Amino acid sequence: MSDLKKWIVTANGIANDIARKEALEADRDGKWVHKTMTALKETKLTGLVVPKENGGLGGGLYALARISEELGKAYSSAGLCFGMHCVGAAVIAAKATDYQKKKYLQPIAEGEHITSLALSEPGTGAHFYFPQTSLLPTSQDDFIVNGDKTFITNGGHADSYVVSTLGASEDATADQFSCIILEANQPGIIWGDPWNGLGMRGNSSCPAHLNDIHISGNQILGEKGDQLWYIFNVVAPYFLMSMAGTYLGIAEAALQEAKNVLAKRHYMHSGTGLAQVSILQHRLGTLWSNVERTRRLIYNAAQLGDNGEPEAITHILAAKAEVGHCVVDVVNEAMTLAGGIGYRENGLLGMYLRDARAAHVMSPTTDLLYTWLGRVLLDQPILSD
Ligand SMILES: Cc1cc2nc3c(=O)[nH]c(=O)nc-3n(C[C@H](O)[C@H](O)[C@H](O)COP(=O)(O)OP(=O)(O)OC[C@H]3O[C@@H](n4cnc5c(N)ncnc54)[C@H](O)[C@@H]3O)c2cc1C
Repeated sequence: MSDLKKWIVTANGIANDIARKEALEADRDGKWVHKTMTALKETKLTGLVVPKENGGLGGGLYALARISEELGKAYSSAGLCFGMHCVGAAVIAAKATDYQKKKYLQPIAEGEHITSLALSEPGTGAHFYFPQTSLLPTSQDDFIVNGDKTFITNGGHADSYVVSTLGASEDATADQFSCIILEANQPGIIWGDPWNGLGMRGNSSCPAHLNDIHISGNQILGEKGDQLWYIFNVVAPYFLMSMAGTYLGIAEAALQEAKNVLAKRHYMHSGTGLAQVSILQHRLGTLWSNVERTRRLIYNAAQLGDNGEPEAITHILAAKAEVGHCVVDVVNEAMTLAGGIGYRENGLLGMYLRDARAAHVMSPTTDLLYTWLGRVLLDQPILSD
């Protein structure tokens, strides 16, 4: 069995045995998916994107999309929490110093450390690549961080956070930022209200005020001027592929739910089942096709990315934009196929419906992605607004 196959089997086991059960409690109470993340740590799947030379599994974008899909099928917040950890890990790994390898990557690979990504801010919203959080030097090896972050997945539960800040130099312009690592126990991280979202209720996406936090140069990632390199070479591909996989998982789960309802429902007056009604057969076929063509787009995009193909970026942008439409449309339609019973029970389809809606607003949002895609095709600068 290939390594990837083994990871998928492991993820599938965690998804079915733990995440699926944890979903009910997490969705009801807004509780972070602690049991699922613990199982992912214990099996060292949390080291998925950490390079092998740092003790990790050395998986790439395709592996990330596939594992996120497995988790997403059982519970979308599990896919989201795992995905944001992996994006953070990939950002750390991209240009890690020896200190950062030892301090962060090795513990992540050993299943002892969860990280996450804190890019979004209340002031710049979906335009997460324009952070306002400041990073100012106070001496040669001491910097002070101030600002506000919002929607930090795994918030309050991770061991570290990859945070974007406005460039360390005084002449830094708005689009020049640095990424830093904050440790969870650093004085000055003040968490805001717990996550109480419409959906994705197990992801603990919290705001945090960063108040005079002192960090050393060891906590700064990469070199000055690396920021756009990080965004387009690490953050975007890893984020987009993990989220595409997660939302694909929801779409697949909704498709299966619709199929189950159609297969089981029979009428007493006629003795016929919904599985025999042509229009419903047709609608299910349409749903399957939507999910499958989106799956192929995502898998192909991830493989192009892993192979370093120059055209990968267009496919990766399109994959997350398309999965946003796919998941919202498929879940919506599955809800119709499940009839009044599906609506009444506020069961799995209700949860999928709420969770799926996050696809369009998680940045890069669907609207931004199509615009960026058009810009790439027209050879225009991506971040021109
Ligand atoms: C469940 C969940 C988890 C999240 N997890 C994280 C996380 O772990 N880390 C993190 O950093 N962030 C995270 N986010 C934040 C997310 O990525 C976005 O930054 C956030 O949802 C933007 O919300 P907003 O209300 O500020 O949107 P706004 O910026 O106010 O945008 C509102 C709408 O306007 C559209 N819009 C804005 N500008 C343009 C434009 N130029 N062209 C076209 N459309 C435009 C947007 O697409 C959006 O639909 C998460 C969000 C959610 C919902």
